[in-house]
Amino acid sequence: MAAKKSRPRTKQREAARTLDKLRAARQRLFELQPGGSPEQPLQVVSAAVVEAQAESVPCPRCEGKHDIVEHVAVTRQGTRLREARLRCRQCGTTRSLWFRIQDALPN
Ligand SMILES: [Zn+2]
Repeated sequence: MAAKKSRPRTKQREAARTLDKLRAARQRLFELQPGGSPEQPLQVVSAAVVEAQAESVPCPRCEGKHDIVEHVAVTRQGTRLREARLRCRQCGTTRSLWFRIQDALPN
């Protein structure tokens, strides 16, 4: 049985490239999901839950935990939104999660 010669360095490079592509794809997927863009915010009942909810979302690249860098109120086309700016504790990438506060019900 002829042993197939492996070329570990080439294999490693290929693996690294594949992983990079996978991570980029995961980031794009994250942006397409609810909360990933101001056009598609996550709905929450109050601003008080924004940070807890943002923290519960893992980094799409490495599944690490996020730190909340900033939590700001933003108005887009008359809609009041909250932007949680996140940074991954593990890989250091940054991204934003978007929220819309549900309108208070009239009493
Ligand atoms: Zn990460």
